[in-house]
Amino acid sequence: AARAEGNVVAWFDAAVTTRLADRLRLAGRIHAAIDNEFQLYFQPIRHASDGSPASLEALLRWPQADGSFIPPSEFIQLCEDTGLILALGRWVIRAAAQAQRRLVEAGWGELSIAVNVSAVQFFNSDLVAEFARAQQDFGLARGALHVELTESSLMRKPAQAMQTMQRLHEQGISVSLDDFGTGYSSMSYLQHLPLDILKIDRSFVADVETNPRNASICRALLSLGHSMGLTIIAEGVETPGQLDWLAAHGCDQVQGYLLGRPAPLEKIIAQLDEVVA
Ligand code: C2E
Ligand code: CA
Ligand code: CA
Ligand code: CA
Repeated sequence: AARAEGNVVAWFDAAVTTRLADRLRLAGRIHAAIDNEFQLYFQPIRHASDGSPASLEALLRWPQADGSFIPPSEFIQLCEDTGLILALGRWVIRAAAQAQRRLVEAGWGELSIAVNVSAVQFFNSDLVAEFARAQQDFGLARGALHVELTESSLMRKPAQAMQTMQRLHEQGISVSLDDFGTGYSSMSYLQHLPLDILKIDRSFVADVETNPRNASICRALLSLGHSMGLTIIAEGVETPGQLDWLAAHGCDQVQGYLLGRPAPLEKIIAQLDEVVA
């Protein structure tokens, strides 16, 4: 860290340039990796009442030569900034559709697969056509795939969001609102959207059984969601105490390390019959 003003500027410029170069290099690697290096992992979402599986969420993984993974938190934003998310998102839709086909063959065809869709992808690709094509190519039933969207993406362009969600519904694709409670959507707005599921963000589920503030937030989100006729999923359930609290307060479905970690599809299929929690 330099002291003189001129040096500070020079130091700052060098840091920015290095970061930019790193970002460009990473973007180039992602571009080359789409279609052959990324993998989808799947995490089970289970009924809170009896632990039986309800659906799976598809989560992107980028394995590296040394056996490690670059987490989505380190590449999704860059993919959104560079537009690479359009090609990567297309790959995810097809990989999820292929996985659903495999579920049908394995006797778990009633489990749908939830696909995370970023705001950039939601507003800039022909999402409905991409899903319709994937459903057709893999012979999937209506309801076999869902979309997970965040509040902030819906709020960016409400009218277009509404229209795209309606078209997804016509295609048999339901929509979940992800990370619910962390955004700023007005309740009156949410009420008019064709939504099916709310996912309560993990930050509110943590300590829910011991932290009165999180407990009142979860109670409010559960009552709001149920009054709108929606299914509610709690994310990030890690302890039996959290699960008991959520089940006792009428939460419909649960997802988290307690109920199963994200894993490759074959491993998940092998675990689906196991009794959990
Ligand atoms: P998200 O959609 O909120 O996904 C849930 C994240 O919580 C996942 O992190 C999952 O591994 C993690 N998680 C699940 N259960 C627990 C738990 O009990 N405790 C804790 N601490 N974490 C838990 P992951 O896989 O690292 O993904 C992070 C985010 O990256 C996702 O958050 C989503 O926003 C984004 N993402 C992942 N896959 C895709 C994708 O295919 N497309 C897009 N656009 N975004 C994706
Ligand atoms: Ca999600
Ligand atoms: Ca989430
Ligand atoms: Ca989250």
